[in-house]
This record gives sequence, structure tokens and C-alpha cells, in this order.
Amino acid sequence: MSQATDTTVREDGVIESVSGPVVTARDLDAKMNDVVYVGEEGLMGEVIEIEGDITTIQVYEETSAVAPGEPVEGTGAPLSVDLGPGMLDSIYDGVQRPLDVLEEKMGSAFLDRGVDAPGIDLEKTWEFTPEVEEGDEVGRGDIVGSVPETPSIDHKVMVPPGALDEGETAEIVSIESGNFTVEDTVAELDDGTEIQMRQEWPVREPRPTEDKQTPTEPLTSGQRILDGLFPLAKGGTAAIPGPFGSGKTVTQQSLAKFADADIVVYIGCGERGNEMTEVIDDFPELPDPQTGNALMARTCLIANTSNMPVAARESCVYTGITIAEHYRDMGYDVALMADSTSRWAEAMREISSRLEEMPGEEGYPAYLAARLSEFYERAGYFDNINGTEGSISAIGAVSPPGGDFSEPVTQNTLRIVKTFWALDSDLAERRHFPAINWNESYSLYRDQLDEWFENNVAEDWPEQRQWAIDVLDEDDELQEVVQLVGKDALPEDQQLTLEVARYIKEAWLQQNALHDVDRYCPPEKTYRILGAIRTFNDEAFDALDAGVPIDEITDIDAVPRLNRIGTTPDDEVDEFVDDLEDDMTEQLRSLY
Ligand code: ADP
Repeated sequence: MSQATDTTVREDGVIESVSGPVVTARDLDAKMNDVVYVGEEGLMGEVIEIEGDITTIQVYEETSAVAPGEPVEGTGAPLSVDLGPGMLDSIYDGVQRPLDVLEEKMGSAFLDRGVDAPGIDLEKTWEFTPEVEEGDEVGRGDIVGSVPETPSIDHKVMVPPGALDEGETAEIVSIESGNFTVEDTVAELDDGTEIQMRQEWPVREPRPTEDKQTPTEPLTSGQRILDGLFPLAKGGTAAIPGPFGSGKTVTQQSLAKFADADIVVYIGCGERGNEMTEVIDDFPELPDPQTGNALMARTCLIANTSNMPVAARESCVYTGITIAEHYRDMGYDVALMADSTSRWAEAMREISSRLEEMPGEEGYPAYLAARLSEFYERAGYFDNINGTEGSISAIGAVSPPGGDFSEPVTQNTLRIVKTFWALDSDLAERRHFPAINWNESYSLYRDQLDEWFENNVAEDWPEQRQWAIDVLDEDDELQEVVQLVGKDALPEDQQLTLEVARYIKEAWLQQNALHDVDRYCPPEKTYRILGAIRTFNDEAFDALDAGVPIDEITDIDAVPRLNRIGTTPDDEVDEFVDDLEDDMTEQLRSLY
């Protein structure tokens, strides 16, 4: 988080009232969204309302020791993040204070008051390699060089978007390689602009882009049910409701590890202290299957537990997405996870009620829907202003109280996001993992991603998927009948459909996140497993038509091998499935 660098002398205000995180001050010289320092301790806050000579401030720290009469000092600058190398492998609070630095200063992960720390290390040096030369013309946002930020990621150093006007260019008059701190000048333009690795950006303002494209590439996840049935696009938006124990943490960690994004930004927003501690402890230990390095080498974590001040919970989502935009501007694909947007909404509700605003549904402010949509709006597949393409895929967890999807946060989120992965506690209880309900989930990207799957995996991918959906739908209807009269009362063809659906569920939809091989399933394997089940289906129905009794069909000894494809190593899958399909076919045909 940046200190403002404004030299004008400002009038201090005086605190009028304190209500939890909301403080009002009289006679403060400040604009909307300015950062201010509140009280003797200088607690960081942000201006959220100005009425006459009364300024209302949300304070990012515990205000219990603040009293009316104490001073409030304006900074003249909006709430901003420091952008530059060093953000990856960092864990921040909601206003980008590095937790490890704060912990060192205060000896506790739960933050005390009035402590400030820069978001990126100002003293560390980085090895800068120019990517342009003296004499080159550059425009706003252009990449001038890079530094190896972590073993996994090169950090691009860019002309700040505000340094030049749109369409304007300037000449590089000096640039050289070497070791620099983030505040050293690495390049100079002929208009006098000095470029450093560090930029600041106000969190509530989206960084500029050239254009937003319709996404056509999937963000493959290595999870069969997601890639196979409910794919997310690179640049897409998804919501995932997570009732307790339904596998939310496991699913999100799988996504962080296996989604084919370059960068992961994980916003832990207001979950209970121990849940967030788990994330803070777990993430740094996770290996990155893409690179063999630590996953943190391409991850930035933002952690605001429920025992941290409520206003910093409100801001953490903005801090996270601004950091994501910076990496997008470098041309990277970013996966951003917000866990949970319900806690974020609750923080809004609390602040709104302190402001005595007119409440909307269930006490949430009337602007809840607008805030949610502004957030998801910042996701997308973009043409960047420097000519690169980059994406932010936003995945928001929702924690509906009691698992009731009719509440306002879930409902408003569903109106915005295009993918919905409904985690289901019933499935989790039955130990069907991932516990994603295939009847309630959906992806509106499915059709626009078909071409990619057709070209990159298999031409009949959409058709095969539709076959699986039809079988699952029929299964769903038949299960109701089975509940009433039992399976044996059904005609044999319907019994066979139930059997095929059972394999779709067990061998394809279920996936063990804790198994070394099964935890990640490339799309080719997702396709082959379903193809094998379909081969069984086709051959079995032929046998049934030829008069073979259902029991003999389901008893063939090859078919249970369907359940073993998931745990078969990727490079052995083709041979395994070829053999299995041959065996099933031979055994079924031998019955008639
Ligand atoms: P939540 O975060 O929703 O409370 P967790 O993610 O901690 O739930 O999951 C609870 C338990 O469910 C895990 O400890 C694990 O045993 C099991 N589980 C969840 N998802 C999977 C999965 N994909 N594969 C295997 N086990 C899973």
C-alpha cells in the first residue's frame, strides 16, 4: 500500500464520532476515496462519503482506542496498491500490507493498529533486462524490460498507463541492464518520464485495456466434471457455493494447482480465522505441477480473516483484482479466486448499516448487486494497451447460510457469472467427490468453447458430452421411479441405462483429489474415459437387443476396469483404454 506523495499542505480534520470501523470527521480537506490517517495512532482509512463539512471514513484497523477530538490527516491520494516485482510469493492483508513484515513488527498474525508497510520490498534488487533500446518509441503500458520475479515468472516492467496519453508515444533516451531496486529508474523517456519497476494504482479503478474479447479458450482445470461438463473460459466468471465440508477448500486448491493459468491470485476474504490460517499454512507448502517449483512462485495470497477489521475485508477484493490486472497487462492468464464473496458482502452490509443507509434485501445495501457486477466485470479476456493479450478468470466462492441458494448474495452472483459449480453437501456425505451437483451446475461458455475442444481434443467432444448429459438426465428421472418401486421393476433397457449412468458417475464424474494420478486429468483423458463408457453402452445395448439378459451383460469381467482408468498414468491411458474397449466388445459379443 502506498503512502501518498502529495506535497500540498492540507487541513487536518477533527474526529466527530466513532462507530466501529466508521469514523466521521469535521473540516477535513479530502476527496472521495482518499486515504486518510485517523486519530493519534494514524490508523489508515478511506473517505467513503462527504456531506457538507462532515467526512465519513471507513477505517482499516481496530478503532477501539480512537476518540472524538483526535485529528484526521488527509493524504490527497486514493487507496492504491504498489505494483511491481515481489508480489508473487507474498501474503498480504486487505490493504496490501505483507503479513510476514507485519508479524515481525508485531509478533502476531492478527494485526494491531497504526502499522504501515510497503506492499513490495523497497530495498531488494532485481536483475533488469531491457526489451527495448534507446531510440525506440514507446506508448503507455508498453513493456520496456523484465526481471525474473520468481523461478516461475518473469515480471514485465511497463510504462505506467498514466505516463502518456492514449495514442501518444515518447522515445527511450536511456535504458540499461543491471541490478535495481523497485524505486530506481530503469529507463527514461524524452519527455522526462522516469520509469521504475514500481507503479501505483488506485484499487477501485480498473486498469485500462484496449478491448474485451469474447473468450474462446477454456481455462482447463484438470477436473473432469468441470472440463467435461461445465467448462470455464479463460477470462470467464464462475461462482462456487461451498457449504461446510462439501470440498470447497480441496476444489479451490485443485483449481489453483491445475488450472492452466500463469498466475494465481487467491483472496481469502473474511473466512473464520482458523480456515484462513489453514490456507496461509497450506499454500506455501504446495508444489506446482506445471513447473516443479513452489506454487507460491506464481501465486499472490491476500488474507483477511473474520477477526481482522471489517473495512479491510471490504477492500481486499479490490486489492486482489488490481494485482491480477497488473499481471494481465504483462500478457499473462490470471486465475483469481475470491473466498468468500459472501463475507465480502457481509462487510459491505456492516459498513452500510453503520452509515445508516437504507437497507435492501436482508439488510444488504442496495448497491450490493452493482458492487458484485463491477467486480466480475474486471474479469475478461483482454487486448491490452501494450498489444499483448491477457486474461483474468474470476472464481468467487459463495457461502450461503444454511446452503440456501435463494439468499441475495447467491442470487445476485448467479445473475452475473456465467459458470456455476454447485457444491452439494448430500454428495459430499455420500463421499461422491468432487461434490459438484451435475443437475444444478451450468456453464454458459460451453458452446463458445466447443470449437477449441473440437480442434484440440476430439472432433466429437460436444456430441459425446451431450450423450453423457442425456444419460445423466434419464438417470435422474429413473432414480425417482427406483425410489418408489425398486430397480428390478424397471424394463431391462432402463436398468442398463442406470448401469451406464453409474459408470459415468463413478468412473468419470468422481475424481480423487488425494490420488497422485487421478487428481489431475488432462482433457484427452477426460475424453477417453467417457469414450470407453460409451463403448460399453453401445455394445451392451446391442447385446440386449440380441436378447442377452441384463445380468449377463453387467456381469462381464472387463467392465469394472472402467473405474481404474482415472488412476492410470497419463502415458498409459491410451493402451489401457484400447485394451479395455477390445475386451468389453469381445466379451459382450460372445454372449450372443
Ligand atoms: P470445505 O472446505 O468445504 O469445508 P474440504 O475441502 O475441507 O471442505 O473437504 C472436506 C473433506 O472432503 C476433505 O478433507 C476430503 O477428505 C474430502 N474431499 C473433498 N473433495 C475431495 C476430492 N475431490 N477428492 C477426495 N476427497 C475430497
